[in-house]
Amino acid sequence: MASPSERLEELLRAAIGEGASDLHLEPRDRRLEVRHRIDGRLISRGFVEARFSDSIIQAAKIAGHMDIAERRLPQDGQGEIARGERRYHLRFSSLPAVNGEALVIRIIDEHVGVRTFAEMGLFPPDIERVRELLSLPHGLVYVTGPTGAGKTTLLYAMLHNLPAEEIDALKIITLEDPVEARHPRFFLQLGVDERIGRTFSELLRHVLRHDPDVLLIGETRDLPTAEITLKAALTGHLCFSTLHTPDALGAIERLKDIGLDPLMVASALKGVIAQRLVRRPCGACARPHPEDQRLRQRFAALLTAAEGPGSFLQARSGGCPACQGRGYRGRTAIAEVFPLAGLERLVAQAAGPAALLPRLRARGCATLFEDGVRKAARGLTTLEEVHAAVERPASNGSCYLPSACPPP
Ligand SMILES: [Zn+2]
Repeated sequence: MASPSERLEELLRAAIGEGASDLHLEPRDRRLEVRHRIDGRLISRGFVEARFSDSIIQAAKIAGHMDIAERRLPQDGQGEIARGERRYHLRFSSLPAVNGEALVIRIIDEHVGVRTFAEMGLFPPDIERVRELLSLPHGLVYVTGPTGAGKTTLLYAMLHNLPAEEIDALKIITLEDPVEARHPRFFLQLGVDERIGRTFSELLRHVLRHDPDVLLIGETRDLPTAEITLKAALTGHLCFSTLHTPDALGAIERLKDIGLDPLMVASALKGVIAQRLVRRPCGACARPHPEDQRLRQRFAALLTAAEGPGSFLQARSGGCPACQGRGYRGRTAIAEVFPLAGLERLVAQAAGPAALLPRLRARGCATLFEDGVRKAARGLTTLEEVHAAVERPASNGSCYLPSACPPP
C-alpha cells in the first residue's frame, strides 16, 4: 500500500497533470476534500478517506518543511516536486480550522518561459502602448487589479521586454512577497519578509543604494512604500508596481488618498494599466452565440475598431471531454493600458474618469469592458466572462445582452 508521502505525491502529480495552479486539501466532517484550482476556478477531485486524512496532512507538512507538532497556528512552507523532466516549486500554507488543518499548496513551474504580450492576450495597439512605457528612461507605471488578475505575470513580461539592447546594461532589482518564479539571468530578486522587518519600504531604502536602473516593487501597500517609489521614479529610475484598485484610473485617486503630493504624482506617473484574466471558451464544444448579429449591432461603435474575424461564442454548460466538462480551456487577459503623457495637468488635479477617459479614448485606448467586448466578439472569451470580471461602467447602458434589455 502507498505510504502517505507517496499518496501526497500522487495528489500533486494529478494536480500538475491537470494544469492546476493550487492544490487545496480541506477537512470536511472527518474526510479531506481534494480540490484543484484550474483557470481560476476550484474543482472538486474527490475525498481522502478519514483514516488517511491526518497522515496526508502530516506528509504535506513534512514535504513543506513545516513543524508537524504545531497544529494550532497557521504555518507557511516551501518544497519541490519533479514530474517527468520538470521540477516544480511548491508553496505550502496551513490553517487550523475547527475540524482539522486545511492546506493549500501553490504549484509554481519555474521553467515556464516568460510569455509574450500577445500570448498573454494583449491586442497589438496595447502592446505598442506598453512598449512605449518601457522605453522611458525613468518614471512610474502602476498595474492594477484584484489578486489573481495576472499582475505579476504582466510585470515580468514587461521586464523581459525592456529594449533588448539595454537589458544587459541595466541593473534591475525586484522586490516581491514572496518571490515566485526565479529569473536570475537578468534580475536581482529580493523576497519581502515582514515577520523579520524586511518590508517593502525597508528593502527599498537599501535597494536604492545599489544604483538600480529599473525597480519592480511587487505591491504598494502603504504610504512609505509609495513615497519612496515616487521619489525613485523622480530621481532617474524606472519603477513598476501594483495597486489593488479595480480600474487603471482608480490608481490616481488612490495615490492622492494615501497622502501623496498630486504634483509629484503627476510628474512621476507615466502610465496605468488594469488587467483581468477571463476564461477562453473550449474550442471543441463552444457554439456561436445565438444573438451574435444583434450583439454586433449593439456594440457596433466598439467593433469597428476591432480587426480580424470571429464571432461571439457561448460556452457549453457541461462542456465536453476535451475541457473535462468545464466548457472553458485556458485564460486570456483583458486590459486597459493608459499612457498619461500630456495629461499631467489633469492627473495633478486628480481628475476623474469623466475628464480623463475622453482624452484617452481619443488616442485609441479602450477600457477593460471595451477591450473585453472586442475580445468576446472574436471568440477569445465570452461576454459572460467579461461581465463577471469587470464592473461595467454606468455609461455603457443598463444591459449588455439584447435579450436582457427591457423593451424600448
Ligand atoms: Zn469542451
